[in-house]
Amino acid sequence: MRFDVVTLFPEMFAPLTDNGVNARARNKGIWDLQFWNPRDYTHDVHRTVDDRPYGGGPGMVMLAEPLDKAVDDALLARKAQGAKAEVPVVLMSPTGRRFNQNIAQEWAESDGAIIICGRYEGIDQRFIDARVTHEMSIGDFVLSGGEIAALAMMDSVIRLLPGVLNDNQSAVCDSFHSGLDGLLDSPHYTRPEIYKDQPIPDVLKSGNHKNIERWRREQSLRITAERRPDLIHKARKKGLLDKKDEAFLLSLKT
Ligand code: SAH
Repeated sequence: MRFDVVTLFPEMFAPLTDNGVNARARNKGIWDLQFWNPRDYTHDVHRTVDDRPYGGGPGMVMLAEPLDKAVDDALLARKAQGAKAEVPVVLMSPTGRRFNQNIAQEWAESDGAIIICGRYEGIDQRFIDARVTHEMSIGDFVLSGGEIAALAMMDSVIRLLPGVLNDNQSAVCDSFHSGLDGLLDSPHYTRPEIYKDQPIPDVLKSGNHKNIERWRREQSLRITAERRPDLIHKARKKGLLDKKDEAFLLSLKT
């Protein structure tokens, strides 16, 4: 998997490239990241990448040309590496489709993407119309640039790649993942058995895996019903809740 990130601030990606499981996986060659800085595609002494908006209004708008050329070079570099000619060109944008775990799982099966990080008020629409294939938002709030959004998105995709997490199972048991039928995760406990007078739930000591699995399922159902009833509806619609699940959900209401 290869990401090509078009950004004015490549140094902001150090958390992904220098730390933890992601860095180790990059060193192992499981994924790679290249940067393309729009400033390298300017011709004036000030290396200008933005200008005032037509029609007036606050802020500055990113110029189309440096972005266009950065994407050209990213495509050439991918081709030289033998990657498929068609690659998603993803613009991070609050007006995009909301990113979620399903999309992360789909992307984890792909060759990666070219990711455009916006700055200022936004980007000249003509670049978006001509080059961008997907617009992606990480939530209903506005960041000062696309870098943090791109980091969050790439991190969630990379941790799904085989060989990135130590325990291959652990991504499967996460909130929103299809392994949990898209529900929220259940609570976790570790040693000591009693912490500040609070014991752990008895069932977790029972050694009875079937009961433990059932307890975790019911905790997932309970927490999801309380906090994200929309996810319960989604799982039900997909036929992922069985009779036992429905009976448990009913018992919560009474
Ligand atoms: N004027 C724009 C916001 C610009 S914020 C608007 O109101 O829609 C500057 C840049 O930050 C954007 O171009 C985008 O790349 C990034 N950004 C901000 N919030 C984001 C979000 N929630 N998800 C993804 N990218 C975001």
